[in-house]
Amino acid sequence: MTTPRLVPLSPTTWAWTHDSTAWGYSNCGLVASDGEALLMDTQFTLEGTRELLAAIAGAVPDATITTVVNSHQNGDHTWGNELVGDAEIITSEASAAHRCHEMTPDMLSALSRGEPATAVAAYAVEHFGGFDFGGITLTGPTRTFTGSLELTVGRTAVRLLDLGAGHSAGDVALHVPEDGVVFTGDALFRGGHMIVWSGSLSSCVTACDTLLATGATTFVPGHGELTDRAGLTHFRDELSRIFETATAYAREGRELDEAARLVKAAHAGDLAHPERLFTAVAGAYQEAGVPDVPSTTFELVEGMARLAAAA
Ligand SMILES: [Zn+2]
Repeated sequence: MTTPRLVPLSPTTWAWTHDSTAWGYSNCGLVASDGEALLMDTQFTLEGTRELLAAIAGAVPDATITTVVNSHQNGDHTWGNELVGDAEIITSEASAAHRCHEMTPDMLSALSRGEPATAVAAYAVEHFGGFDFGGITLTGPTRTFTGSLELTVGRTAVRLLDLGAGHSAGDVALHVPEDGVVFTGDALFRGGHMIVWSGSLSSCVTACDTLLATGATTFVPGHGELTDRAGLTHFRDELSRIFETATAYAREGRELDEAARLVKAAHAGDLAHPERLFTAVAGAYQEAGVPDVPSTTFELVEGMARLAAAA
């Protein structure tokens, strides 16, 4: 369990953050002004989302959440949506289109509660077995956009940015210009390695450039602690180095699992979940045109479980 907190970033903007880099503990954003509130992402479980909503009710008792933005469709950012189901739920067209490829709460429950007969199941039991996904009714977006979308929350102007594919098939960031704050969703991780579900690592680098181009000074990642421009730039540059190294291995014809082990040895650093580097290397391999690179969620988790076991 973690101790999440609603951290004020300005009189109208808050970040919901966890003191954990474990899988599933995602950050959220809140903008509240003149009785209206916009929530960026919900939590993995109903219990976690109720805790978030109670903290919001305490901080801004007069505000009604009229808009929810989903940064992408992973369960740790969307499975609490039903608890704010009266709000308009906005995401990008690419993010919404990917919904049907996500694991459902029942699938993840079965995988993480069953006998760990396979490497994937053992990985799921270890990282997701502690969550209760019971009672979740999947609640999807009611509005989509492409490019960018300007909204006002009470008197506060915000901008949604369609980052395209990167972490997921379609990522969305929330920019609050008057505060110089961007909620990045999982385009940025702090304290743990990036996961690349989309099959494109170079797009993750491009997404960081888009985030930096906002001119914002505070970046709230999807997971981990808040950071500044230097922190985001460091993250971007490291992804870029991993892309170059992995691409070189792909061109040499090196086998994917071996490349992932070499990249892990060189780039694990002190970040949590170095096995996620498998997904980054697989992304670079896919972009380099290597045939039959694992690309489904299940295959990528299999690869991560293999890399974790190869330590
Ligand atoms: Zn996440």
